[in-house]
Amino acid sequence: MANFIDFLIILFYNHNMKIYDVVIIGAGAAGLTAAAAATERNKSVAIIDMGKTPARKVMASGGGRCNFTNINVNVNRYFGNNPDFVRSAITRINPQDILNWAKKHNITWVEKNPGQYFSETGAADIVKAIIKDASKADFFLETQVLDTKFQSNLFHITTNNKTFIARSLIIATGGISFPALTVSDYGYQIAKIFGHKIIPVRPALCAIATQIFPKNLAGISLKVGISIGHEKFIDSMLFTHFGLGGPAIYRATVRDITDIRINLMPEVNVYDFLKDAKTTSGKKKVSSILSEKLPIKLAKLFCPDDKNIADYKDAELRHIADTIHDIIIPYQKIKLFSLKSAEVVRGGVDVTYISSKTMESKLQPGLFFAGEVLDIAGDLGGFNLHWAWASGHIAGENA
Ligand SMILES: Cc1cc2nc3c(=O)[nH]c(=O)nc-3n(C[C@H](O)[C@H](O)[C@H](O)COP(=O)(O)OP(=O)(O)OC[C@H]3O[C@@H](n4cnc5c(N)ncnc54)[C@H](O)[C@@H]3O)c2cc1C
Repeated sequence: MANFIDFLIILFYNHNMKIYDVVIIGAGAAGLTAAAAATERNKSVAIIDMGKTPARKVMASGGGRCNFTNINVNVNRYFGNNPDFVRSAITRINPQDILNWAKKHNITWVEKNPGQYFSETGAADIVKAIIKDASKADFFLETQVLDTKFQSNLFHITTNNKTFIARSLIIATGGISFPALTVSDYGYQIAKIFGHKIIPVRPALCAIATQIFPKNLAGISLKVGISIGHEKFIDSMLFTHFGLGGPAIYRATVRDITDIRINLMPEVNVYDFLKDAKTTSGKKKVSSILSEKLPIKLAKLFCPDDKNIADYKDAELRHIADTIHDIIIPYQKIKLFSLKSAEVVRGGVDVTYISSKTMESKLQPGLFFAGEVLDIAGDLGGFNLHWAWASGHIAGENA
């Protein structure tokens, strides 16, 4: 009987409304890639987005240059409750695949840091290429999804404009940071409707607010060593009016937050440097010696009673060196700043009940997730867009 009623309902929709093979919510990096893969398989696809234009975050990415992949894509560069979830997707779609795709679209790239690829001619060319690949899909912009139900083996998607019917549904609604680009938490709501858990969301790849350094250092940028948890890396850090930013800090904030330890001179043994200077330039002020390696305002912080270096005991020089090498920001004092300006979020749809091979929900057949809406955040350097391309492609191949 139920089958007969389903049959009548399908007949009714066939007469009155198009049933899409696949509806995709979100025309960002993951949604557009999914649309390209699904239309490649001759599926009828509708892609819905609440914004005026598709791929707004891609357009803003990499300061307008779009850092679209990284040759060092690897499970260790992803974070969440189960980062291993990305393994299958990033093996299936690897950085070379993305570079081949770029080549196919005549997109040339520059390598800013080793292996970190940016579009040479800007993000707009990447956006143009992903829209072109998805062009066989029907686009519905300025269309916000408000409600989704699964009835009679079909998804019924209600928007502010019209209702869509689909056999498969891909949720590619992204993260909720950077609201100026128009974002929503609808992906989390729909995941909950179908029984998925949401890992609490917080800003990541962002600046931190801290009073640990004086405000007059704002604007200074330098290469520092960062230790967080078991990881160490060197990158540039920026002093700001409210705290610290720059790539080194952004990278720290995407990791599990523990105390952040900053080495202001990671490439110099400061004690040996000061000891040498004590022998060769004893009449120079210690701040002046340090300013050979550090901006003077910063150097002065470490020697308040700025004497000639010869007047310092070795133990005092040792203390200055140790302080420069290891400034600790206790995790309780770290305020992530903020969802408004964070490049991504940590948290999102828990991946426990999602297949890493197909991106399909294990709780609701026909429902797929891709991109940042999932509890997966990548490191700074092109890892987030790589995840969006890879997971979007796989969802589109299987929906
Ligand atoms: C300023 C900035 C710079 C960045 N730079 C880089 C970079 O250089 N390299 C890198 O790898 N990553 C970068 N990122 C991160 C990267 O852009 C994102 O991780 C990636 O775009 C996520 O792709 P997505 O498709 O999952 O989501 P998004 O691109 O965010 O797309 C989600 C889409 O879903 C739509 N949507 C949401 N809810 C609804 C709804 N209810 N109804 C209809 N539509 C809805 C939204 O309008 C949006 O268009 C940057 C992020 C920002 C903010």
